[in-house]
Amino acid sequence: MNLFCLAPFTRAAKWRLSQVRQAFVSQLVLRPSLLCQRLLYASGCLLSLFSPQLMAAAEPEHFSPKVVLVSIDGLRWQELFYGADAQLANDSRYVRDPKLLAPLLKGHKAEKLMPFFHQVIKKQGLLVGDRHQGSLMNVSNKARVSYPGYNEMLSGVADPGINNNSKRYNPNVTVLEWLNQQADLQGKVAAFGSWDMLPYILNVPRSQLPVNAGFASASGELTPELHLLNKLQRQTPSPWPSVRLDVFTQQFSLEYLKRKKPTLLYVAFGETDDFAHDRQYDQYLWAAQRTDQFIAELWQQLQDDPFYRNQTTLLITTDHGRGRHADSWSHHGSVRAMAGYLQKLTASAAVEGSDEIWLAALGPAITPQGVKSTATPWWQHQVASTVAELLGYDFQAFQYKAQAALPLTSSSQQLAGRHNQTQTSAP
Ligand SMILES: [Zn+2]
Repeated sequence: MNLFCLAPFTRAAKWRLSQVRQAFVSQLVLRPSLLCQRLLYASGCLLSLFSPQLMAAAEPEHFSPKVVLVSIDGLRWQELFYGADAQLANDSRYVRDPKLLAPLLKGHKAEKLMPFFHQVIKKQGLLVGDRHQGSLMNVSNKARVSYPGYNEMLSGVADPGINNNSKRYNPNVTVLEWLNQQADLQGKVAAFGSWDMLPYILNVPRSQLPVNAGFASASGELTPELHLLNKLQRQTPSPWPSVRLDVFTQQFSLEYLKRKKPTLLYVAFGETDDFAHDRQYDQYLWAAQRTDQFIAELWQQLQDDPFYRNQTTLLITTDHGRGRHADSWSHHGSVRAMAGYLQKLTASAAVEGSDEIWLAALGPAITPQGVKSTATPWWQHQVASTVAELLGYDFQAFQYKAQAALPLTSSSQQLAGRHNQTQTSAP
């Protein structure tokens, strides 16, 4: 019989059971609650022995979880949930030709701007961060700029020592680095990004993670597609010295998924933040729309590939929010982080709204919940543990300061509660 006779279970139960299997295989610290699930799993297998119909229906699939984590730099929750802002779209300071934005301001504005988020993720997964619906997610670092945000997201800890975007290697171990050290995942973690800071955030000299970011070419064995992408990247000017156009991050990522089959892939898009800083609201909106299409394309490729289909969770989030108003939307950050950088704003206070972020999740592990209201805010520092948990690992066993995984499913909700108890008693 198939050792992993999973047909009698629901999809969500399958997922949890696969995590149990993975935890055993990797010989990590086994959580007590997972032990109970393992017993449930064993009893399910026994039951199926006495049910020929169930046995016949059993899929001979090898089920193992994968995660693709995506970030969209500085995309505001306001545009994600409500589409183009009519006031900003008609403000001559930020838009050269408002007529071109008119299609985005008709009908369901949010769907017009980001159709994949609203037609697919909202229906089949969950979204968090719509303040108008009691759905909250925040950054906890005080700097509220990119490097501190990516560190918090990926290491599970807001580090007060990382309070600006200076180029220095991250002293903290990210969940990508840690997972890549686990026996089952060695060489199965990779990252692509548009910003040339990503190798610093992931501390490549120490982590040895494969990271392609900034204007780096693809290296190693090159397919004709990669040759062409390298050439196009060299020949295409970017508006910014440290950020490439997202299309290259996207296409390099898709090629890598196709050829290398990573278990965990991180894709960090960047255009939205840079067009916003350039005070080009129209370009910021088009970048948001392109990114939505990139993610739809990525999801389609995952579903077309038997290695990933029905086994992959897509998590999407952002590193920080932005200002809430017409005078502040283009910037973000604390007074300290913005010193010498913020020109137009009077730096009497932090840019309000910079800590307001969002998250989207889609995949077989995610209970469809639409826009999920939150009794208490979700936090950016919970993302690292969430990524690990989706792959069957307990990041807090390594980094006790890391915060608990987000309650994306009812079972992880229970786990999150347990983690919180552990957290309060931790030294
Ligand atoms: Zn920024």
